[in-house]
Amino acid sequence: KVKVSDLHKSYDGVHEVIKGANLTVMPSEVVCIIGPSGSGKSTFLRCINKLEEFQKGHIFVDGKDLADPKNDINKIREKIGMVFQHFNLFPNMTVLENITLAPVKLGKMDKETAIKEAHKYLQMVNMDDKADVRPTTLSGGQQQRVAIARALAMKPDVMLFDEPTSALDPEMVGDVLNVMKELAKEGMTMIVVTHEMGFAKQVSDKVAFFYGGVIKELGTPEEIFDHPQEPETKSFLDKVL
Ligand code: ATP
Ligand code: MG
Repeated sequence: KVKVSDLHKSYDGVHEVIKGANLTVMPSEVVCIIGPSGSGKSTFLRCINKLEEFQKGHIFVDGKDLADPKNDINKIREKIGMVFQHFNLFPNMTVLENITLAPVKLGKMDKETAIKEAHKYLQMVNMDDKADVRPTTLSGGQQQRVAIARALAMKPDVMLFDEPTSALDPEMVGDVLNVMKELAKEGMTMIVVTHEMGFAKQVSDKVAFFYGGVIKELGTPEEIFDHPQEPETKSFLDKVL
């Protein structure tokens, strides 16, 4: 479970980019975050695994408060998988090595087990036949599926996705979304920033409309897409749908 309460964040100490955001994500829930460019979606997501510091509020991941300096942030982070728009795979390693690196280095499992596990996740994302190639020889969609497998190999409790398909050629998008749908079906807790309204509609338990640094409206996909209440939500959806 992830609980964000009254989150405030500024980059310069003056202008708040997140202005008191609240969100609770229950185990196995999928929450999609939509909203205009610059509204703070990426910043919000990056705060959840403390890639960004925040000034006020609390973020609880499985009950552990990221704002509490006594908590070991690296331990908490191990439970949070993150997938970015740009896949950030290590170019000088094979696909398999990309996936086994962190679990072995952090002492999660021995190398042999890590390799076995890696093949399992590669099969899940339909990339096992590419285990021994370098990521640079793969298409964007293939690289993104490897990035998802790499995040899963840490056995996270929650997966964060920041526009995982927006850097992809259109014909690659479906493969990546299908992997994410599969993950959702298997009960992974997911927070997904996306411009893919079809995906948000189909897969989300809840949709959060982010606007001006807060979650302006939160509801089921039906509530948000078919019966939006806030004028900002309506005007955003008019533009994107
Ligand atoms: P997009 O849909 O374009 O990805 P977003 O909703 O993810 O937008 P953010 O990237 O979170 O928005 O940015 C929110 C605000 O914070 C913007 O005004 C942006 O310019 C600012 N910002 C983001 N990252 C930084 C940074 N590293 N330093 C300073 N300001 C930043
Ligand atoms: Mg963003």
